[in-house]
Amino acid sequence: MGKPTVAFFDFACCEGCQIEMTNLGDEAFLELLNHIDIVEFREAMSETTKEPIDIALIEGSFTREADRARLEDIRRRAKVVIAYGQCATTGGINALKNHQKDYKEFVYGHAAGMPHLASDSARPISSVIKVDYNAFGCPVSKYEVLQIISHLVHGKEPVIPDYPVCMECKRRETVCRYHEGDHCLGQVARAGCGAPCPASGIPCEACRGFVSDPNLASLKKVLREEGGLSERRAETKALMFTANETAGRPA
Ligand code: SF4
Ligand code: SF4
Ligand code: SF4
Repeated sequence: MGKPTVAFFDFACCEGCQIEMTNLGDEAFLELLNHIDIVEFREAMSETTKEPIDIALIEGSFTREADRARLEDIRRRAKVVIAYGQCATTGGINALKNHQKDYKEFVYGHAAGMPHLASDSARPISSVIKVDYNAFGCPVSKYEVLQIISHLVHGKEPVIPDYPVCMECKRRETVCRYHEGDHCLGQVARAGCGAPCPASGIPCEACRGFVSDPNLASLKKVLREEGGLSERRAETKALMFTANETAGRPA
């Protein structure tokens, strides 16, 4: 049996997650190529494919109807679809625009009406096609993507973390930001990163989104009462990476 074929696709995003994968470096990539055939990967090769594929990795959000057919075509051809990076899994920072009416005028001024800028609200890939696995993060963790691919190649079920960053923070014995007079979103942020931010003395901003059932009312209360944030800041604090999760997904 040949090696499984893997293709990387991108939609509305900064392509930082693709770049993060190239940061694996030559050695890890060459080892990876002993186990899979990469048949499309815009940041690293010029070849593309229209053939069936074993694993499709999709980066970026769905922001315009014109992309639906391409997504459906990828779904038809792929045995397994993985949404990777926060833009693809939840809408990520692209979803900030879902809460800003005049964002185009603000950014592009008099050129806001140009046809190539036409787009709708930012949505996760799973709002359009069935997604089998999500690899969270902005940018994604290259090691987590590797682990998911490795599990699939070896016939194992990938494990996607669904517990808070606090658990990883405690595991590495980091002093809590709240004990330093700071604030943090780690109580409801999805773990899997190893909690590097609190360990470096900065709050977790939930760049991997929230756990499945976050207690946002308690988060806001703690941000106000323990973190010293104003009512408004506590209300909007978690909007950066989790705009769709915080304020409800757009229809
Ligand atoms: S998740 Fe972050 S790094 Fe990845 S494509 Fe989106 S904005 Fe870029
Ligand atoms: S620093 Fe943040 S992630 Fe770590 S224990 Fe405190 S609230 Fe949780
Ligand atoms: S600690 Fe929070 S902000 Fe930092 S990488 Fe992990 S999830 Fe992202």
